[in-house]
Amino acid sequence: MNILGIDFEDWFHPQIIQKYVNSKKQTPRIVEGLDKILELLLTTNTFATFFIVGELIKYKPDIIDKILGAGHEIGFHTMHHTRLDSPAYKEIFDAEIKQFAELTGGKSKGFRAPMFSLNRNSSWAIDMLADNKYVYDSSIMPVNTTLYGISGAQRTPYKISSSQIQRNDPNGKLIEFPLLTTRFFGKVIPAAGGFYLRFLPSSTTKNAIKNYEKGSMPAVFYIHSWELTPQLMPKIRMSFTDSFITYHNIGKAFVKMESVLKSFSFTSFERYISKFGSNL
Ligand SMILES: [Zn+2]
Repeated sequence: MNILGIDFEDWFHPQIIQKYVNSKKQTPRIVEGLDKILELLLTTNTFATFFIVGELIKYKPDIIDKILGAGHEIGFHTMHHTRLDSPAYKEIFDAEIKQFAELTGGKSKGFRAPMFSLNRNSSWAIDMLADNKYVYDSSIMPVNTTLYGISGAQRTPYKISSSQIQRNDPNGKLIEFPLLTTRFFGKVIPAAGGFYLRFLPSSTTKNAIKNYEKGSMPAVFYIHSWELTPQLMPKIRMSFTDSFITYHNIGKAFVKMESVLKSFSFTSFERYISKFGSNL
């Protein structure tokens, strides 16, 4: 059994786009795309966890009822899509967790850091999440890339603590679910979704999932809501590299995701924990 997280955020939330547009001045559009995403999950018989940027709930509170009503789960993706290691974010993170709990009736038990920004400089977040009764985190990409990642981190779920973020700490209070990686032309790279789903041949993604299944490891997969609804996304002029990371094959993301969900079984984080938690 594999695990699917949907990073539910708008087109203006990614860090790369925030270099070009003022995200505070944008009107959310992604809420219009929620039905299409729920439909994809329904037709592929999949339950997922939605890691939501909190300001979207403030804008349209009924998205929570729709997501929970369809049997899915909710996780926290910060209030405004802020990197954990942003200056002074530590001072307001606890207040944001509490604000998100208020907006969601305390339903969130899991966290994903924007841009996988959980690292040695931001590991304090684990303690704050634990203090707020969080159960799991899924922010570790266990390979180093130019943008993020922690090379050498454990690839199977483990107990994480603020003093030991990359491998099991028996005293850790949260379960960490590291994201799927694979070997590609002799190099270990992420294969967990997002840009990599768009960039890699489908056969590479599917072989990566198969390899994890063979090893009885959950393939932890992610997709951004804006990748599944490119019709809601304006085309912003950016540098070649930024444009490539943001838009490459974006029109194919939905079909590729659908194909992955039809080929393998995925579930939400809390469902996975309640079934396999005692073995972790
Ligand atoms: Zn995000």
